[in-house]
Amino acid sequence: MTGTRIEVNPFKRQWAAIREDVVSAVERVGENANYVLGPEGLAFERAFAERQERRFAAGCGNGLDAIEIALRALAISAGDRVLTTPFSAFATTLAIIRAGGVPVFVDVDQNGAIDLEQAAECLAADPGIRYCVPVHLYGNPLNPAKLHDLKRRYSLSIVEDCSQAVGATFSGDPVGSASSIAAYSFYPTKNLGALGDAGAITTDDETLACRCRALRDYGQSAKYRHDRLGMNSRLDEIHAAILNDAVLPRLDEWLSRRREIAQRYIGAISHPEVKTLALPAEAWAAWHLFPVRVSGQKREQFLCYLGEEGIRASVHYPVLIPDQAALKDWAGGSTPANLNEAGRLASEEVSLPIHPFLEDEEIDRVCRTINRWNT
Ligand SMILES: *Cc1c(COP(=O)(O)O)cnc(C)c1O
Repeated sequence: MTGTRIEVNPFKRQWAAIREDVVSAVERVGENANYVLGPEGLAFERAFAERQERRFAAGCGNGLDAIEIALRALAISAGDRVLTTPFSAFATTLAIIRAGGVPVFVDVDQNGAIDLEQAAECLAADPGIRYCVPVHLYGNPLNPAKLHDLKRRYSLSIVEDCSQAVGATFSGDPVGSASSIAAYSFYPTKNLGALGDAGAITTDDETLACRCRALRDYGQSAKYRHDRLGMNSRLDEIHAAILNDAVLPRLDEWLSRRREIAQRYIGAISHPEVKTLALPAEAWAAWHLFPVRVSGQKREQFLCYLGEEGIRASVHYPVLIPDQAALKDWAGGSTPANLNEAGRLASEEVSLPIHPFLEDEEIDRVCRTINRWNT
């Protein structure tokens, strides 16, 4: 091993940069002594909605809940089928099931994104499907025109899972523009990462925004008036203040650093068995992760090699969602048909470190190490 270990998420460096703003945000909340659903939450919701170019945002507890709240606000009923991807964080499907939906999986393309052509075929063959939860995987934005087209042709309610894609745009449009309600996670590793769990939804529809606000707060439409069976998934004031003061103002700087690192990787990685993804020209990725594909059953060997060289890499994701043990005895699921590309990605993908607080020399070391890999 040469030099120090290269972390996937060098959070201590991030803490040094944001510490002062975090401490003053916490002090302000302490002095105002308003801890849940107060002015800090409203201020963050306004700022985040503006950032995403949507009329409304509602903070909530985490990304999982954001997806569930969005589906429930869109009046999903028990047993409704929901078209989605087999290749994502398990939370995407878990939220669908928790909302009462039945996931229907279609295969992904070579970049791991839900294949929208196959989605269209699936919807044409089964017009009963009225919901879709696509994911902007790795921070790569899906084409919103194609999502709009599916929505129109098949009267779909779409909930975009934007958990990995804050900052991504397609032809200039931020992710979340194609859905009735978009869902976000602010888990610490995400591009807009809190110091704990947090999430949000965005929408242009005032009625849906009100429903989401009620659902996150026991289904209350006014104090002690419960119109629906909601949940407790509120974004607390301390987190809203931290996000608003310490994280959101730095998002653009961090995004451009992620892009810089991605460009360095794309320019420098030249090993024939380590392939970067090819994104459409209109896609301005947010680079939550930097995935490469290592072919020929050599992924484990590659991961071991990187580990020995002091480079932490990770895999997103090693197991397809429909193959997870938790879904084994789950009666609602339809047997997925052809998930070949998703299966290949699950055995080939490796995520290289791309956190904005990594140094140029660390990124160069990753590139050099990869290029010298003796397969
Ligand atoms: C992180 C993530 C989630 C879940 O978000 P949490 O805040 O951890 O609940 C959902 N979907 C995707 C694609 C994610 O990356």
